[in-house]
Amino acid sequence: MIPRPAQYLLRFDDLCPTIEHEHWLRCLPMIEEFGLKPILAVIPDNQDTELILSPPDPMFWPLMRAMEAEGATIALHGYRHLCASRGESLLPLHHYTEFAGVPEVTQHRWIREGRRILRGQGLNPTIFVAPRHGFDHATLRALRKEGIPLLSDGFARVPFERGGITWIPQQIWRPVEKSSGLWTICIHSNFTRAAQVDELRAFIRDHAAQFTSVDRVLAEYPLAGLGTIERLYEAWTLWRVQVRRARRRRKVRSSSSDKN
Ligand SMILES: [Zn+2]
Repeated sequence: MIPRPAQYLLRFDDLCPTIEHEHWLRCLPMIEEFGLKPILAVIPDNQDTELILSPPDPMFWPLMRAMEAEGATIALHGYRHLCASRGESLLPLHHYTEFAGVPEVTQHRWIREGRRILRGQGLNPTIFVAPRHGFDHATLRALRKEGIPLLSDGFARVPFERGGITWIPQQIWRPVEKSSGLWTICIHSNFTRAAQVDELRAFIRDHAAQFTSVDRVLAEYPLAGLGTIERLYEAWTLWRVQVRRARRRRKVRSSSSDKN
């Protein structure tokens, strides 16, 4: 069942105490104003220096707890966000990721430890968001063993089951009007400019009734494996995203070699 009109989920990535504070503060009001219940992808123990953008915010963890209490879904966003593995992901979009290709026993330990850290902060992570879309069959097994039954990733237009995990697809990185399907819009607030936040806010204002939550998705969608047509759609969309990204990388490389 592809829902019509389209439904949208909002997801904020790379949340940790050293988030770019000013940018994050631009996003918060619209969550409250429109009563949104986003996915908050929280890094348990951030060691990625690219995500140290402000002094550690003492209010970060209390805010995450308050937002979860208001209906947001807490996601385990990897472990330390150190993307040093070259293993092939089930969604091969990046060369280096944190989890794909890492021995299963290590992945299992990272997931267990990450969940322990978030629980220690009073949060209850129920869904996994892999840094840079990097995960493999070992990741899915480790998630199952640790009782995290949900993954936010993939390119189908409906949630589905695969590898014993429920996948809630995440397909777009800015608001895009769709006629049908469930679409997760992933926002990296650290690198989102004011104009992009304005664009997102206007989109939410015009489509507020179409924004849903993980809880509602799980209650409203029949969960099963994907049918043939949707599997083809998924493969075609993944290919298109890969082509777009390769083209963008080539452009960046050629513009930097022009400068040299
Ligand atoms: Zn990330």
